[in-house]
Amino acid sequence: MNKDYLLFHRPFITEEEINEMVDTLRSGWLSMGPKTIRFEEEFNKYIGSKKSIAVSSWTAAGHLSLEAFGIQRDDEVIVPTMTFPATAEIVCYFGAKPVIVDVEEDTLNISLKEIEKALTPKTKAIIPVHYGGQPCDMDEIMEFAKLHNLKVLEDAAHSLPAFYKGRKIGTIADVTCFSFYATKTLSTGEGGMICTNDEEIAERCAIMRLHGINRDAWKRYSESGSWYYEVVAPGFKYNFTDLQASLGLPQLKKVDEMWNSRKQIAAKYTEAFKDLDTITLHTIKSDRESSWHLYPVRLNLEMLRVGRAQIIEELKHNNVGVGVHFMPVHQHLFYSETFKLDDKNYPVASSVFPRLLSLPIYPGMTEKNVEKVINVFTDILKKYRK
Ligand SMILES: *Cc1c(COP(=O)(O)O)cnc(C)c1O
Repeated sequence: MNKDYLLFHRPFITEEEINEMVDTLRSGWLSMGPKTIRFEEEFNKYIGSKKSIAVSSWTAAGHLSLEAFGIQRDDEVIVPTMTFPATAEIVCYFGAKPVIVDVEEDTLNISLKEIEKALTPKTKAIIPVHYGGQPCDMDEIMEFAKLHNLKVLEDAAHSLPAFYKGRKIGTIADVTCFSFYATKTLSTGEGGMICTNDEEIAERCAIMRLHGINRDAWKRYSESGSWYYEVVAPGFKYNFTDLQASLGLPQLKKVDEMWNSRKQIAAKYTEAFKDLDTITLHTIKSDRESSWHLYPVRLNLEMLRVGRAQIIEELKHNNVGVGVHFMPVHQHLFYSETFKLDDKNYPVASSVFPRLLSLPIYPGMTEKNVEKVINVFTDILKKYRK
């Protein structure tokens, strides 16, 4: 690959992760074990939640959480359209219906107004997604959920760490799920975490992540474990592994340091782009702090002679990798056909999506990399300005 090409994302892997991984390989214990338990404990402490359960992905975390909520066939769960399809897919696993709703114009987060419109007697839960790392308005969502007896699962795949009115994301709703996928702010290649203050939900998720066997089943081949186990429910194979924890433990130690790097990059972008009339920057509300997992911008297409595809092509041609987050769920073939969804019911997402673009933002970027993104992007916008 061209060494001058700036990847859209690169995990922040240093000698610490490599040494920890080698230590695990030499230990002979590769699957869920002592390092997984330590990672859960340290993550739990970092978030300030009562229980944290490590699993194989956000998708597994979300599936287990909805199972613990008791979601059944034909139940309804409210999901915003501006997300990765996993948020809606976990609802389909139950034969339940994801009720896909539009988002707020400024934050691209789910809005209370849309939740209110979507509420029916079948509604059982809401999955707010903290788009790009900026928390949703959780106070009003939790108040509404309480009033209507709904469970809330926060999709915090982007928000490690993020703050809502001074509170760290991870303890507000019934359950908060994080992702440690390769592109996320803490990466274990693949992985996820369930955080909850509800002991019953925690217990159910811990059992169901490993075949529905009792809690300490992972120990059955260790010196202190027992060969005997009982299956209490047909669970899943969703456990985390010590190989993943070998990346997670060192990453967790520098999670705030990595956040600071992203904040600095975001500040540089914002300063460099604030006077351009060809793009609109993402709004961050004053009572929230974003993780800056994404740096989304919107192209002001009415000011440009070309569309997004051409802009992305030119960025790539100039060695700058970018992303698009996200093609709205309601536009994906399966969801639009199965649930008969139409752009006209999603005026915000449908009009913003064709203009969206995410710039690279990660701790491994050098100052030169950041300047290159700024210069290349600014030049392209200037070249195609009407
Ligand atoms: C990445 C992502 C997921 C899925 O995470 P996995 O760990 O890959 O299962 C879910 N929701 C959002 C918003 C995401 O960005």
